[in-house]
This record gives sequence, structure tokens and C-alpha cells, in this order.
Amino acid sequence: MSKLYDLAIIGGGAAGLMAAPFALKLGAQVAFVEKDRIGGDCTWTGCVPSKTLLKTAKLVHQMRSADHYGLLPTEPVVDLKSVMNHVRSVIDEIYQPTAPQELRDKGIEVFLGAPRFLDSHTLRIGEKTLTAHNFLICTGAHPFVPPIAGLDSVNYATYLNIWDLAVLPRHLAVIGAGPIGCEMAQAFRRLGARVTLLEAGARLLSRDDTAASEALAKVFANEGIDLLFNASVERAWKDGGSTHLTARGKEIVCDALLVAVGRRPNVAGLDLEKAGVNYSKHGIHVNDHLHTSQRHIYAAGDCVGSYQFSHYAGWQGFLAVRNALLPGAAKGVTDNIPWTTFTDPEVAHVGLTEEQARQRLGNQVLSYQWPMQRVDRAQNEGETTGFIKLIYQKNGRLLGATIVAAAAGEMIHEWIVALQHGFKVDELAKVIHVYPTYSMASMQAAAAIFVERLLDGISGSIIRRLARVTR
Ligand code: NAD
Repeated sequence: MSKLYDLAIIGGGAAGLMAAPFALKLGAQVAFVEKDRIGGDCTWTGCVPSKTLLKTAKLVHQMRSADHYGLLPTEPVVDLKSVMNHVRSVIDEIYQPTAPQELRDKGIEVFLGAPRFLDSHTLRIGEKTLTAHNFLICTGAHPFVPPIAGLDSVNYATYLNIWDLAVLPRHLAVIGAGPIGCEMAQAFRRLGARVTLLEAGARLLSRDDTAASEALAKVFANEGIDLLFNASVERAWKDGGSTHLTARGKEIVCDALLVAVGRRPNVAGLDLEKAGVNYSKHGIHVNDHLHTSQRHIYAAGDCVGSYQFSHYAGWQGFLAVRNALLPGAAKGVTDNIPWTTFTDPEVAHVGLTEEQARQRLGNQVLSYQWPMQRVDRAQNEGETTGFIKLIYQKNGRLLGATIVAAAAGEMIHEWIVALQHGFKVDELAKVIHVYPTYSMASMQAAAAIFVERLLDGISGSIIRRLARVTR
């Protein structure tokens, strides 16, 4: 008779790694099943390598533009093999605490191998069979390869294998100006490659505020990235050592190609039908509490097919465990998700963009933009590109924030808290911020809105009159 686990977690990425220790802390018997490498896309091919490469690329950029800081500029020698070795060493550092033996030492039973359901309570992994009261499926996603004629005949990379490049391409073409395309385009350009970024839509980072897309496009153009908008790639072919593409009537010849046009949920190979779990090519169907069509089987993260962020996957993994093992149920699906694209400057966002807010609330919506140029710390560090943009209602209620700044990914957090707790923009103006930090921008913008609101309308004219009288 095989052991009956309280929870079997399928997939050891961001969601699974958040779920397992929490379930263990709740006293559950946990089985943890991973078919490949624990850590998932985030550790091996996504967040960790990309942010590491971006740091090296920023260093190269700063050495090249050292005259800006009163130093002699220098053109560093970029040996991509050695850069990628550094990337791999950081991956290894981050992976180690999640290695199978580390998890086993904590009391999590790790099964390595591809699992498939035999029925709604039984999994088969190689020769082993596992039964559990509850399951959490968090199998992630994989790169989407678009139906571009001839693409199969050329060597193209995705975020899965771009890390295997050992020699810097002379000319890298990137298809797709989403977060992956933008981050990699800037990294490779700064490392010294010529880069062409091809985007089917009219702007880069289309989920972000238009002002952010425009600001980043300007930076990219200044750094020498060739940007091609409304350029859906139609055809690809090989000619000798080169790859040729056509888009918007133009022919692009490159020696390396990155396809970054989205990701698709991993739902194949699990025999979900045998477990009675409903899914489509868009992902596993879940309700607000992350139940699949089987109440004891939960799904979380990229395999569910909505927003694909490691932090959202981790949050869902945590809530799925909470719902599986504790009484009651908490909501594990939301539209209120913050994100950051780690270009330089970073682009961070929470809540509604100005366009979305206006669509929903019309002329009730106000926006205010404070330039990083007016932030002392940004001046100190020569990082003045960007702004903080706040979207709010006439009554001061915050609706959203977009930050384009060197430290936008850090700065966004106070706006996440403000939005989650329904703060008015004015309230942030009353919080003392440390000088000189990038986050002073948040207080400066909030203070400007506060004063504007204070002096607006009838109450404003009374306050102005009172101020004159008491002077
Ligand atoms: P994406 O869906 O965000 O963007 C893909 C882009 O490719 C779109 O702008 C689309 O218009 C364009 N495109 C599609 N077909 C095209 C064609 N034939 N020719 C030219 N352009 C084309 O995809 P992504 O950047 O691959 O990211 C995948 C997922 O991973 C996203 O959900 C993203 O949010 C997430 N991710 C997030 C981060 C981050 O938060 N920093 C980083 C990497 C990935």
C-alpha cells in the first residue's frame, strides 16, 4: 500500500517552491514532483539569468560612458562565453537551496521524473505510484513559436537557450518587444551586438502605459537599437551563415535570432483527462480559489494561463496551499498585479494605466507626472531618465502608478501597498521619505497632487483667502 500524501505538488518552479515549504509548515505530508530541474524557468532560463546578464550589460554601458562620471571612458572586452559562465554561476548559487537533497532534508519528499495522472487521486512517475488527498499543478509555460513561414529552417533561440551563446552575435534580431524582447535587446546591444527589435504592434511593452513605452523607445533608439514597429515578421530563411527575415516590406539580415512572442501553458503529457481536470490551450481552468474542475486539485502560476510573473505564481502557490489545507478559502486570482521590466531604466507598473482608467471612468480620471530629472538622487547618480506617473480620481483615490526610473522596481512597492489598501494619493505626501533616495520622487509627486487638490475649487479659494488673512 503506497503512502497517502496530504498534498502532491506537480512542478518545482516559482509556484511549487513557494507552496511546498508552506504546506510543510502546516504539518502536511508533501510530495514534490519535478520532471526536469527544480527551479523552473525563473531560475534557469528567465528571471535569474536575464537580470544577471542585464547587470553585466549595464556595467559595460557605464564603463563606456564613464566620462559622464568624470572618468576616462573605456571599451571593455566582452567575452560572451565568460559572461555566460558568470550567469551560470549565479544560477547555481540561487538553485542550491532548492536542490532535491536540500528539500528532502527539510522533510519534503521529492520525486524526479515526468508525472501523469492515472486517476484523480493517483500519479504515476516512472515506476512509482503516488496517491494524495490534494494536488497542486504548477507546471509553468514554454515559449510560443509563431507560425512564421520558414522559421523552422533557421537557427533561432528562445529564452530557453539564448544562454548557450558563446560568441557575441554581430547582429541579433529580436522578434517581439514584450518584456523578454526588450530586456534581451538592450542587454545584447550594450554588450556590443547590433540589435534590431521587430514588433508587430505599434509600441513596445504594450501592457504598460503609453508614456512608458515612448520613454523606453527613446532610450533604445539613443543606444542604437534599430526599432521596427508594425513589423509582423512574415518569413524567415537561411542563406549561408545568415538568417534573413521579412517584415513591413523590409529584409533584415542577421546572424542570430531571438523569438520572444509570448509563452504558452504547459498542460500536455499530464493525462489531465484521466484526472477529470478541464483545460484548453490557454491553460488549466481554475475558479477564483484556484480549484480546477476537481475540487481537490488546484492549479497555480503560468500553467493557469493568465499573467505570467514569478511573483504572481508564488503568490498563487501560497494561496492554493492555504485553500487546500486550511478551513475557508481565499481569493487566488486578481487583476491587481504589479510588474517590472528590468531594462535600464526599469519600467514598473501597478493598477490601471491612464488609457484603462479613462476607458472605465472617463473624465473622472486625472494623471500627474513627476520627472526623475527633479529627483536629487537621480541627479547624483546620472540616472535622470524617466518619471513617476500617478493615475487617480478627482476625490484623490489612487487608480494606478507607472514608474520609469533606474530603481523603478523598488520604488513601485509603496504604490502597491497604497493601492491594495485604498489610500488616497495625498496620504503618501504625508509620509516622511528618506532623502536622498529615488523614492523621494513618490513623495514629491504625491505632495504636488496634494497641494493642487488643496488649492482647487471653493475650498481652495477659502484656504487661499485664509492664508492671506493669517499672513
Ligand atoms: P509578450 O506576450 O509579453 O510580448 C510579445 C510581443 O511580441 C508582443 O508585443 C507581440 O505584439 C509581439 N509579436 C507577436 N508575434 C509577432 C511577430 N510575428 N512579429 C513581431 N512581433 C510579434 O511575450 P514575452 O516578452 O515573450 O514574455 C512572455 C511572458 O513572460 C509575458 O507574460 C511576460 O509578462 C513574462 N515576462 C515577464 C518579465 C518581467 O516581468 N520582467 C520578463 C520576462 C517575461
